[in-house]
Amino acid sequence: MKTLQPIDRFSVEIPAERRKSVYEGAKITSEKRTAVLAQDYPDPDRLRAIAGQIKQHTLDHLDRYLRQAEDRLLANGAKVHFARDGRESNETVLSIMRENGCGKVVKSKSMLGEETDLNRFLTENGVDCLETDLGELIVQLDNDHPSHIVRPIIHKNRKEIAECFEREGLGAYNDEPEVITRRARNFLRERYMQADTGLTGANFVVAESGRISLVTNEGNARFCMAATRVHIVIVGIEKIIPRDRDLALFHNLLARSGTGQQLTVYNQFIGGPRAPGQPHGPEQMHVVFVDNRRTEVLASDCREILRCIRCGACQNVCPIYRRSSGFAYRSNYGGPVGAVLSPLLAGEGFADLADLPKASSLCGACNEVCPVDIPIPDLLLRLRDRAKREGARKAMAGTPPMGVWALLASQPAAWKASLKMGFALDYLPAEVIPVPALRAWQSVRKLPPWRGGKFRQWMRERGGEER
Ligand code: SF4
Repeated sequence: MKTLQPIDRFSVEIPAERRKSVYEGAKITSEKRTAVLAQDYPDPDRLRAIAGQIKQHTLDHLDRYLRQAEDRLLANGAKVHFARDGRESNETVLSIMRENGCGKVVKSKSMLGEETDLNRFLTENGVDCLETDLGELIVQLDNDHPSHIVRPIIHKNRKEIAECFEREGLGAYNDEPEVITRRARNFLRERYMQADTGLTGANFVVAESGRISLVTNEGNARFCMAATRVHIVIVGIEKIIPRDRDLALFHNLLARSGTGQQLTVYNQFIGGPRAPGQPHGPEQMHVVFVDNRRTEVLASDCREILRCIRCGACQNVCPIYRRSSGFAYRSNYGGPVGAVLSPLLAGEGFADLADLPKASSLCGACNEVCPVDIPIPDLLLRLRDRAKREGARKAMAGTPPMGVWALLASQPAAWKASLKMGFALDYLPAEVIPVPALRAWQSVRKLPPWRGGKFRQWMRERGGEER
């Protein structure tokens, strides 16, 4: 397997074939989500509201719940670390490994690891780092980048995966899904046995018990802990929930929202490292709580985004994401959640991503599917407002001149004339259009057939006053 090389992240061009994979994958998952929720619950919106309230309550008292979680984890025999930013988080992971003479890590999928660019950091520091989630493994082998929170290779088809496996020596070209998964399984089993460190994220950390809850469909997180000596958990501080009993609600919503399943296949509850007398499991467990600007987000008027449980439902339903893919968002988090979270987590780099909140039609579908009821459209508007107040150049680029529109709309004669011009545009050859932007636009787009004029006629016929 080749060493992971630094890549120019997010600069990937998405060909039409890949866009099709994203569109179809997202649409199918979204439809499954709707069907399974409607089938299982008379009022799914009530569940979403309750889950949102629990998460918001936790965020409102995060200091208290973080301390409680830390106390419980320590009592369970885990070691707890706090990292202010991505660099500290990565360095903490590396120093834990070095202190324990470790050099080979098997890693379960973690969006936070993507956020901190952990793989690259570990690889550059001589650590043998292997992704074990099938999608993430393919991303790593291909030196690619995930484009979806739950389905990292939603942009790839099985032909590309089979080619990747052939190139990396996992077997001659075969694009049968069964063959692909069997080959990945054989490849990974051996590597699990050779590793000394298992690295996972956490879907939830329960404050009252110090339990880490992890869900996977492949069982790879379990394998990451089966033969390794050290288990390291990296988790954002917002992933805490108050009580064990809350897990029932969140597991049910997460599985249905993320993949349309009633329950994810493997649900693990990790209470600490191997206890005396237990035959298996890591000898040490380290939990790294990572801030990385989350406290800044908590103090902002967009704090609700920290309720996010990374289900990807808003990505699947979003018409913009479906057409453009996660790569269009130029950050680790694509889709509506990314349009809010990425600029906020960018800190001083806010201006560079301040155009992302504009990648939305504000149709509200993201809010309707969100299992924790995040008012994403409202947050997008707040971020647009912030971008404007801060004069973020990128966010302003492409903004249509509303002054011109306002002038036309308030002058009936000018409005009528512009409508007539719009009608004429259907017939004019592009070369004779005087405005360059309009000419460029018209040369590649066909206007829909003209259907105007009926309203005024209708108004006249019923004796109304036309202005
Ligand atoms: S914002 Fe809501 S719908 Fe989107 S990933 Fe987060 S929890 Fe899921």
